[in-house]
Amino acid sequence: MQHPNSSDTMNTNQPQEGIDHSKTESTRRFNPVYSARAQSIFPTMSALAREHNAINLGQGFPDEDGPLEIRQYAAEGILAGPNQYAPVEGTPEIRRAVAADNKRFYGLDIDPMRETLIVAGATEGLASIFLGLLNPGDEAIAFSPFYECYAPQIEAAGARFVPVALEAPDWRIDRQRLEAAITERTQVIVINSPHNPLGRVLDTEELHTLAAIAEKHDLIVVCDEVYEHLVFDDHKHIPLMTLPNMFDRCVRIGSAGKTFSLTGFRVGYITGPEPIVTAVMKAHQHIAYTLSGPIQNAIAHALEFGDHYYTEFRAGLTMRRDRLEKGLRDIGFEVGRCEGTYFLNVDIRSFGYENDVAFCREMTEKAKVTAVPISAFFHPSETEAPKQFARFCFCKKPEVLDEAMHRLSGYLLQ
Ligand code: PMP
Ligand code: GLN
Repeated sequence: MQHPNSSDTMNTNQPQEGIDHSKTESTRRFNPVYSARAQSIFPTMSALAREHNAINLGQGFPDEDGPLEIRQYAAEGILAGPNQYAPVEGTPEIRRAVAADNKRFYGLDIDPMRETLIVAGATEGLASIFLGLLNPGDEAIAFSPFYECYAPQIEAAGARFVPVALEAPDWRIDRQRLEAAITERTQVIVINSPHNPLGRVLDTEELHTLAAIAEKHDLIVVCDEVYEHLVFDDHKHIPLMTLPNMFDRCVRIGSAGKTFSLTGFRVGYITGPEPIVTAVMKAHQHIAYTLSGPIQNAIAHALEFGDHYYTEFRAGLTMRRDRLEKGLRDIGFEVGRCEGTYFLNVDIRSFGYENDVAFCREMTEKAKVTAVPISAFFHPSETEAPKQFARFCFCKKPEVLDEAMHRLSGYLLQ
Protein backbone atom coordinates (compact mmCIF):
# COMPACT_ATOMS: atom_id res chain seq x y z
CA MET A 1 0.00 0.00 0.00
CA GLN A 2 1.22 3.43 -0.85
CA HIS A 3 1.90 5.72 2.06
CA PRO A 4 -0.45 8.71 1.91
CA ASN A 5 2.49 11.07 2.23
CA SER A 6 4.58 9.52 -0.53
CA SER A 7 5.73 11.86 -3.26
CA ASP A 8 2.93 10.81 -5.66
CA THR A 9 0.22 12.20 -3.48
CA MET A 10 1.99 14.89 -1.49
CA ASN A 11 0.88 18.47 -1.88
CA THR A 12 -1.78 17.77 -4.48
CA ASN A 13 -4.19 19.89 -2.48
CA GLN A 14 -2.07 22.91 -3.25
CA PRO A 15 -2.84 24.61 -6.58
CA GLN A 16 0.00 23.69 -8.92
CA GLU A 17 0.91 25.14 -12.25
CA GLY A 18 -0.06 22.94 -15.19
CA ILE A 19 -2.40 20.78 -13.14
CA ASP A 20 -6.16 20.88 -13.55
CA HIS A 21 -6.82 21.44 -9.86
CA SER A 22 -10.56 20.82 -9.96
CA LYS A 23 -10.04 17.31 -11.38
CA THR A 24 -7.36 16.49 -8.83
CA GLU A 25 -9.65 17.54 -6.00
CA SER A 26 -12.67 15.67 -7.25
CA THR A 27 -10.78 12.39 -6.98
CA ARG A 28 -9.87 13.01 -3.34
CA ARG A 29 -11.94 11.60 -0.53
CA PHE A 30 -12.16 14.51 1.87
CA ASN A 31 -14.21 14.11 5.03
CA PRO A 32 -17.80 14.77 3.88
CA VAL A 33 -18.80 15.98 7.37
CA TYR A 34 -16.97 19.14 6.37
CA SER A 35 -16.44 19.00 2.62
CA ALA A 36 -20.08 18.26 1.75
CA ARG A 37 -21.23 21.27 3.77
CA ALA A 38 -21.17 24.84 2.56
CA GLN A 39 -18.90 27.34 4.28
CA SER A 40 -20.25 28.55 7.61
CA ILE A 41 -23.06 31.10 7.20
CA PHE A 42 -21.27 33.70 9.37
CA PRO A 43 -18.07 34.30 7.36
CA THR A 44 -20.13 33.80 4.19
CA MET A 45 -22.49 36.64 5.03
CA SER A 46 -19.64 38.82 6.35
CA ALA A 47 -17.77 38.38 3.06
CA LEU A 48 -20.93 39.29 1.13
CA ALA A 49 -21.38 42.36 3.36
CA ARG A 50 -17.81 43.49 2.63
CA GLU A 51 -18.24 42.86 -1.08
CA HIS A 52 -21.34 45.07 -1.22
CA ASN A 53 -20.26 47.61 1.36
CA ALA A 54 -23.27 46.69 3.48
CA ILE A 55 -23.79 47.31 7.19
CA ASN A 56 -23.11 43.93 8.73
CA LEU A 57 -25.87 42.97 11.16
CA GLY A 58 -25.30 39.34 10.18
CA GLN A 59 -22.38 37.70 11.97
CA GLY A 60 -22.65 38.28 15.71
CA PHE A 61 -19.80 40.45 16.95
CA PRO A 62 -19.70 43.86 18.63
CA ASP A 63 -18.43 46.78 16.55
CA GLU A 64 -16.62 48.18 19.60
CA ASP A 65 -14.02 46.19 21.52
CA GLY A 66 -14.61 45.37 25.17
CA PRO A 67 -12.95 47.27 28.07
CA LEU A 68 -9.59 48.93 27.42
CA GLU A 69 -8.47 47.73 30.85
CA ILE A 70 -8.62 44.10 29.68
CA ARG A 71 -6.77 44.84 26.46
CA GLN A 72 -4.10 46.78 28.35
CA TYR A 73 -3.68 43.95 30.82
CA ALA A 74 -3.31 41.51 27.94
CA ALA A 75 -0.85 43.75 26.08
CA GLU A 76 1.31 44.21 29.16
CA GLY A 77 1.21 40.48 29.81
CA ILE A 78 2.28 39.74 26.26
CA LEU A 79 5.16 42.23 26.48
CA ALA A 80 6.30 40.93 29.86
CA GLY A 81 5.91 37.28 28.84
CA PRO A 82 6.32 34.42 29.07
CA ASN A 83 4.58 33.69 25.79
CA GLN A 84 5.28 29.96 25.78
CA TYR A 85 2.83 27.09 26.13
CA ALA A 86 0.46 27.73 29.00
CA PRO A 87 -0.77 24.73 31.03
CA VAL A 88 -3.09 22.50 28.96
CA GLU A 89 -5.99 22.99 31.38
CA GLY A 90 -5.53 26.78 31.51
CA THR A 91 -3.51 29.11 33.73
CA PRO A 92 -4.18 28.78 37.48
CA GLU A 93 -5.22 32.47 37.52
CA ILE A 94 -8.11 32.06 35.11
CA ARG A 95 -9.15 28.68 36.47
CA ARG A 96 -9.46 30.18 39.94
CA ALA A 97 -11.34 33.16 38.49
CA VAL A 98 -13.78 30.86 36.63
CA ALA A 99 -14.46 28.89 39.82
CA ALA A 100 -15.04 32.12 41.77
CA ASP A 101 -17.33 33.38 38.99
CA ASN A 102 -19.46 30.23 39.25
CA LYS A 103 -19.79 30.82 42.99
CA ARG A 104 -20.56 34.52 42.59
CA PHE A 105 -23.29 34.23 39.98
CA TYR A 106 -24.75 30.76 40.57
CA GLY A 107 -23.65 29.65 44.03
CA LEU A 108 -21.73 26.71 42.56
CA ASP A 109 -18.78 25.29 44.50
CA ILE A 110 -16.28 24.49 41.78
CA ASP A 111 -12.81 23.04 42.36
CA PRO A 112 -10.68 25.23 40.07
CA MET A 113 -8.01 22.58 39.46
CA ARG A 114 -10.37 19.66 38.81
CA GLU A 115 -13.60 21.08 37.51
CA THR A 116 -12.57 23.81 35.05
CA LEU A 117 -10.92 23.82 31.64
CA ILE A 118 -9.94 26.83 29.54
CA VAL A 119 -10.48 26.44 25.80
CA ALA A 120 -9.79 28.41 22.63
CA GLY A 121 -13.28 29.90 22.44
CA ALA A 122 -16.55 28.06 23.03
CA THR A 123 -16.26 26.68 19.49
CA GLU A 124 -13.15 24.68 20.31
CA GLY A 125 -14.64 23.84 23.69
CA LEU A 126 -17.71 22.31 22.05
CA ALA A 127 -15.55 20.33 19.62
CA SER A 128 -13.49 18.98 22.52
CA ILE A 129 -16.65 18.13 24.44
CA PHE A 130 -18.15 16.14 21.56
CA LEU A 131 -14.89 14.45 20.57
CA GLY A 132 -14.05 13.70 24.18
CA LEU A 133 -17.47 12.39 25.24
CA LEU A 134 -19.07 10.72 22.23
CA ASN A 135 -18.42 7.25 20.86
CA PRO A 136 -18.94 6.36 17.21
CA GLY A 137 -22.57 5.25 16.86
CA ASP A 138 -23.82 7.36 19.78
CA GLU A 139 -26.64 9.80 19.28
CA ALA A 140 -26.64 13.43 20.38
CA ILE A 141 -29.84 15.46 20.50
CA ALA A 142 -29.98 19.21 19.90
CA PHE A 143 -32.95 21.52 19.49
CA SER A 144 -33.31 23.12 16.10
CA PRO A 145 -32.69 25.85 15.19
CA PHE A 146 -29.24 25.30 16.73
CA TYR A 147 -25.85 26.98 16.68
CA GLU A 148 -24.18 25.90 13.49
CA CYS A 149 -21.07 24.07 14.72
CA TYR A 150 -22.89 21.44 16.82
CA ALA A 151 -23.89 19.18 13.94
CA PRO A 152 -20.55 18.90 12.09
CA GLN A 153 -18.67 18.56 15.36
CA ILE A 154 -20.95 15.77 16.58
CA GLU A 155 -20.81 14.00 13.22
CA ALA A 156 -17.02 14.34 13.09
CA ALA A 157 -16.97 12.39 16.35
CA GLY A 158 -18.76 9.59 14.50
CA ALA A 159 -22.02 10.15 16.34
CA ARG A 160 -25.45 10.79 14.89
CA PHE A 161 -26.87 14.28 15.21
CA VAL A 162 -30.56 14.11 16.12
CA PRO A 163 -32.42 17.42 15.75
CA VAL A 164 -35.59 18.00 17.74
CA ALA A 165 -37.44 20.92 16.19
CA LEU A 166 -38.76 23.77 18.30
CA GLU A 167 -41.84 25.42 16.89
CA ALA A 168 -42.73 29.04 16.24
CA PRO A 169 -44.01 31.23 17.73
CA ASP A 170 -43.12 30.06 21.26
CA TRP A 171 -40.11 27.86 20.45
CA ARG A 172 -40.54 26.02 23.76
CA ILE A 173 -39.10 22.64 24.60
CA ASP A 174 -41.78 19.98 24.32
CA ARG A 175 -41.31 17.02 26.63
CA GLN A 176 -43.05 14.48 24.41
CA ARG A 177 -41.11 15.44 21.32
CA LEU A 178 -37.86 15.26 23.22
CA GLU A 179 -38.63 11.87 24.74
CA ALA A 180 -39.67 10.52 21.34
CA ALA A 181 -36.20 11.31 20.00
CA ILE A 182 -34.36 9.42 22.75
CA THR A 183 -33.08 5.93 21.98
CA GLU A 184 -30.76 3.54 23.79
CA ARG A 185 -27.91 5.12 21.83
CA THR A 186 -28.58 8.65 23.05
CA GLN A 187 -25.67 9.92 25.12
CA VAL A 188 -25.99 13.66 25.07
CA ILE A 189 -28.53 16.48 24.86
CA VAL A 190 -27.20 19.87 23.83
CA ILE A 191 -28.99 22.92 25.15
CA ASN A 192 -28.30 26.58 24.49
CA SER A 193 -29.71 29.31 26.72
CA PRO A 194 -29.89 32.21 26.08
CA HIS A 195 -30.51 30.85 22.62
CA ASN A 196 -28.84 31.78 19.38
CA PRO A 197 -30.64 32.55 17.10
CA LEU A 198 -34.02 32.64 18.91
CA GLY A 199 -33.11 34.98 21.75
CA ARG A 200 -35.06 32.83 24.21
CA VAL A 201 -34.05 32.08 27.78
CA LEU A 202 -35.13 28.65 29.05
CA ASP A 203 -37.64 28.99 31.87
CA THR A 204 -37.76 26.92 35.04
CA GLU A 205 -40.43 24.58 33.67
CA GLU A 206 -38.27 23.70 30.67
CA LEU A 207 -35.19 23.31 32.87
CA HIS A 208 -37.08 20.90 35.14
CA THR A 209 -38.28 18.94 32.11
CA LEU A 210 -34.71 18.65 30.87
CA ALA A 211 -33.46 17.64 34.30
CA ALA A 212 -36.12 14.94 34.66
CA ILE A 213 -35.40 13.51 31.22
CA ALA A 214 -31.63 13.61 31.62
CA GLU A 215 -31.92 11.74 34.89
CA LYS A 216 -34.48 9.22 33.64
CA HIS A 217 -32.38 8.32 30.58
CA ASP A 218 -28.98 8.82 32.21
CA LEU A 219 -27.83 11.48 29.73
CA ILE A 220 -25.11 14.11 29.78
CA VAL A 221 -26.32 17.63 29.05
CA VAL A 222 -23.99 19.95 27.18
CA CYS A 223 -25.01 23.45 28.26
CA ASP A 224 -23.96 26.18 25.86
CA GLU A 225 -24.27 29.26 28.05
CA VAL A 226 -22.06 31.67 26.11
CA TYR A 227 -24.73 34.40 26.41
CA GLU A 228 -25.17 33.89 30.18
CA HIS A 229 -24.71 37.62 30.92
CA LEU A 230 -26.71 38.92 27.94
CA VAL A 231 -30.14 38.60 29.55
CA PHE A 232 -32.74 41.37 29.56
CA ASP A 233 -35.78 42.65 31.43
CA ASP A 234 -36.85 40.28 34.20
CA HIS A 235 -35.38 37.19 32.60
CA LYS A 236 -32.87 35.25 34.60
CA HIS A 237 -30.26 32.84 33.37
CA ILE A 238 -30.24 29.63 35.42
CA PRO A 239 -27.60 27.02 34.58
CA LEU A 240 -29.17 23.55 34.42
CA MET A 241 -26.19 22.44 36.46
CA THR A 242 -27.59 24.24 39.52
CA LEU A 243 -30.72 22.05 39.66
CA PRO A 244 -30.80 19.14 42.13
CA ASN A 245 -28.75 16.09 40.98
CA MET A 246 -27.71 17.83 37.76
CA PHE A 247 -24.11 18.82 38.44
CA ASP A 248 -22.68 15.36 37.77
CA ARG A 249 -24.29 15.11 34.34
CA CYS A 250 -23.82 18.68 33.02
CA VAL A 251 -20.95 20.40 31.29
CA ARG A 252 -21.27 24.16 31.02
CA ILE A 253 -19.55 26.43 28.50
CA GLY A 254 -18.99 30.18 28.81
CA SER A 255 -17.23 32.60 26.47
CA ALA A 256 -15.16 35.68 27.28
CA GLY A 257 -15.85 36.71 23.69
CA LYS A 258 -19.49 37.35 24.58
CA THR A 259 -19.17 38.45 28.21
CA PHE A 260 -16.42 41.00 27.55
CA SER A 261 -17.04 41.83 23.86
CA LEU A 262 -13.69 40.35 22.84
CA THR A 263 -14.63 37.63 20.36
CA GLY A 264 -11.12 37.71 18.87
CA PHE A 265 -9.44 36.79 22.16
CA ARG A 266 -10.72 33.21 21.74
CA VAL A 267 -11.16 32.39 25.41
CA GLY A 268 -13.85 29.98 26.51
CA TYR A 269 -14.34 28.21 29.82
CA ILE A 270 -15.76 24.83 30.69
CA THR A 271 -17.11 23.85 34.08
CA GLY A 272 -18.29 20.42 35.13
CA PRO A 273 -17.66 17.32 37.22
CA GLU A 274 -14.09 16.05 37.18
CA PRO A 275 -14.65 12.90 35.06
CA ILE A 276 -16.33 14.89 32.30
CA VAL A 277 -13.87 17.79 32.40
CA THR A 278 -10.95 15.34 32.29
CA ALA A 279 -12.44 13.52 29.28
CA VAL A 280 -12.89 16.86 27.53
CA MET A 281 -9.34 17.94 28.43
CA LYS A 282 -8.03 14.75 26.81
CA ALA A 283 -9.55 15.88 23.52
CA HIS A 284 -8.61 19.56 24.00
CA GLN A 285 -4.92 18.66 24.49
CA HIS A 286 -4.87 17.20 20.98
CA ILE A 287 -6.88 19.97 19.33
CA ALA A 288 -5.96 23.44 20.60
CA TYR A 289 -3.51 22.11 23.23
CA THR A 290 -3.57 25.49 24.96
CA LEU A 291 -4.04 29.21 24.33
CA SER A 292 -2.13 32.40 25.10
CA GLY A 293 -1.29 32.59 28.82
CA PRO A 294 -1.27 36.42 29.00
CA ILE A 295 -4.65 36.57 27.29
CA GLN A 296 -6.07 34.01 29.71
CA ASN A 297 -4.77 36.08 32.61
CA ALA A 298 -6.31 39.24 31.20
CA ILE A 299 -9.66 37.45 31.21
CA ALA A 300 -8.98 36.22 34.76
CA HIS A 301 -8.65 39.90 35.66
CA ALA A 302 -11.88 40.75 33.79
CA LEU A 303 -13.79 38.01 35.61
CA GLU A 304 -13.12 39.97 38.80
CA PHE A 305 -14.91 43.11 37.56
CA GLY A 306 -17.57 44.35 39.96
CA ASP A 307 -21.32 44.28 39.37
CA HIS A 308 -21.13 47.70 37.75
CA TYR A 309 -19.59 46.22 34.61
CA TYR A 310 -22.49 43.81 34.13
CA THR A 311 -25.15 46.43 34.89
CA GLU A 312 -23.68 48.81 32.31
CA PHE A 313 -23.16 46.06 29.74
CA ARG A 314 -26.76 44.93 30.03
CA ALA A 315 -28.10 48.50 29.95
CA GLY A 316 -26.14 49.24 26.76
CA LEU A 317 -27.42 46.12 25.06
CA THR A 318 -31.00 46.67 26.23
CA MET A 319 -30.92 50.14 24.69
CA ARG A 320 -29.59 48.71 21.41
CA ARG A 321 -32.13 45.90 21.39
CA ASP A 322 -35.01 48.33 21.93
CA ARG A 323 -33.68 50.63 19.25
CA LEU A 324 -33.35 47.92 16.62
CA GLU A 325 -36.66 46.33 17.57
CA LYS A 326 -38.49 49.64 17.22
CA GLY A 327 -36.70 50.38 13.95
CA LEU A 328 -37.68 47.01 12.48
CA ARG A 329 -41.28 47.34 13.70
CA ASP A 330 -41.55 50.88 12.34
CA ILE A 331 -40.49 49.57 8.93
CA GLY A 332 -43.29 47.03 9.16
CA PHE A 333 -41.62 43.76 10.19
CA GLU A 334 -43.11 41.33 12.64
CA VAL A 335 -40.29 40.98 15.19
CA GLY A 336 -39.73 38.11 17.64
CA ARG A 337 -38.98 38.82 21.30
CA CYS A 338 -35.39 38.88 22.47
CA GLU A 339 -35.03 37.81 26.10
CA GLY A 340 -31.27 37.26 25.82
CA THR A 341 -28.31 37.24 23.32
CA TYR A 342 -27.79 40.07 20.85
CA PHE A 343 -30.09 38.88 18.11
CA LEU A 344 -33.56 39.84 16.85
CA ASN A 345 -35.52 37.82 14.31
CA VAL A 346 -38.00 39.15 11.79
CA ASP A 347 -40.63 37.39 9.73
CA ILE A 348 -39.77 38.26 6.13
CA ARG A 349 -43.30 37.43 4.98
CA SER A 350 -44.19 40.89 6.36
CA PHE A 351 -42.81 42.08 3.00
CA GLY A 352 -43.92 39.13 0.89
CA TYR A 353 -40.59 37.28 0.95
CA GLU A 354 -40.66 33.48 1.29
CA ASN A 355 -37.00 32.50 1.17
CA ASP A 356 -34.66 33.72 3.90
CA VAL A 357 -31.45 33.02 1.97
CA ALA A 358 -32.65 35.02 -1.04
CA PHE A 359 -33.93 37.77 1.28
CA CYS A 360 -30.59 38.12 3.09
CA ARG A 361 -28.72 38.20 -0.20
CA GLU A 362 -31.06 40.81 -1.67
CA MET A 363 -30.92 43.04 1.42
CA THR A 364 -27.11 42.89 1.37
CA GLU A 365 -26.81 43.63 -2.32
CA LYS A 366 -29.63 46.14 -2.72
CA ALA A 367 -30.46 47.65 0.67
CA LYS A 368 -26.82 47.37 1.86
CA VAL A 369 -27.76 45.76 5.17
CA THR A 370 -26.77 42.19 6.04
CA ALA A 371 -28.72 39.70 8.16
CA VAL A 372 -28.41 35.91 8.41
CA PRO A 373 -31.03 33.37 7.30
CA ILE A 374 -32.43 31.23 10.11
CA SER A 375 -32.66 28.17 7.84
CA ALA A 376 -28.85 27.95 8.22
CA PHE A 377 -29.47 26.92 11.85
CA PHE A 378 -31.11 23.63 10.85
CA HIS A 379 -29.62 20.27 9.89
CA PRO A 380 -29.46 19.47 6.16
CA SER A 381 -31.83 16.54 6.86
CA GLU A 382 -34.54 18.93 8.12
CA THR A 383 -36.06 19.60 4.75
CA GLU A 384 -39.14 21.21 6.29
CA ALA A 385 -37.11 23.85 8.15
CA PRO A 386 -38.80 27.27 8.18
CA LYS A 387 -37.48 29.73 5.63
CA GLN A 388 -39.32 32.84 6.73
CA PHE A 389 -36.99 34.25 9.38
CA ALA A 390 -33.91 36.45 9.24
CA ARG A 391 -31.68 37.36 12.17
CA PHE A 392 -30.31 40.86 12.83
CA CYS A 393 -27.52 41.50 15.34
CA PHE A 394 -27.82 44.58 17.55
CA CYS A 395 -24.44 44.80 19.36
CA LYS A 396 -23.52 47.76 17.16
CA LYS A 397 -23.22 51.52 17.72
CA PRO A 398 -26.69 53.15 17.91
CA GLU A 399 -25.93 55.31 14.88
CA VAL A 400 -25.01 52.18 12.90
CA LEU A 401 -28.34 50.60 13.82
CA ASP A 402 -30.13 53.80 12.82
CA GLU A 403 -28.37 53.94 9.47
CA ALA A 404 -29.19 50.28 8.83
CA MET A 405 -32.89 50.96 9.51
CA HIS A 406 -32.76 54.02 7.28
CA ARG A 407 -31.36 51.90 4.44
CA LEU A 408 -33.85 49.07 4.95
CA SER A 409 -36.84 51.39 5.05
CA GLY A 410 -35.54 53.26 1.99
CA TYR A 411 -35.37 50.00 0.09
CA LEU A 412 -38.44 48.16 1.35
CA LEU A 413 -40.83 51.10 1.52
CA GLN A 414 -39.77 52.81 -1.71
N1 PMP B 1 -22.28 28.96 21.03
C1 PMP B 1 -23.15 29.89 20.59
C2 PMP B 1 -24.59 29.71 20.87
C3 PMP B 1 -22.70 30.99 19.86
O1 PMP B 1 -23.56 31.89 19.41
C4 PMP B 1 -21.32 31.10 19.62
C5 PMP B 1 -20.88 32.24 18.73
N2 PMP B 1 -20.17 33.07 19.06
C6 PMP B 1 -20.44 30.13 20.12
C7 PMP B 1 -20.96 29.07 20.81
C8 PMP B 1 -18.97 30.21 19.90
O2 PMP B 1 -18.36 31.15 20.76
P1 PMP B 1 -16.83 31.50 20.69
O3 PMP B 1 -16.69 32.74 19.92
O4 PMP B 1 -16.40 31.66 22.13
O5 PMP B 1 -16.12 30.36 20.04
N1 GLN C 1 -21.79 33.28 17.08
C1 GLN C 1 -21.74 34.27 16.05
C2 GLN C 1 -23.11 34.35 15.41
O1 GLN C 1 -23.99 33.63 15.69
C3 GLN C 1 -20.73 34.00 14.98
C4 GLN C 1 -19.46 33.37 15.41
C5 GLN C 1 -18.69 32.85 14.25
O2 GLN C 1 -18.75 33.39 13.16
N2 GLN C 1 -17.98 31.82 14.47
O3 GLN C 1 -23.30 35.19 14.59
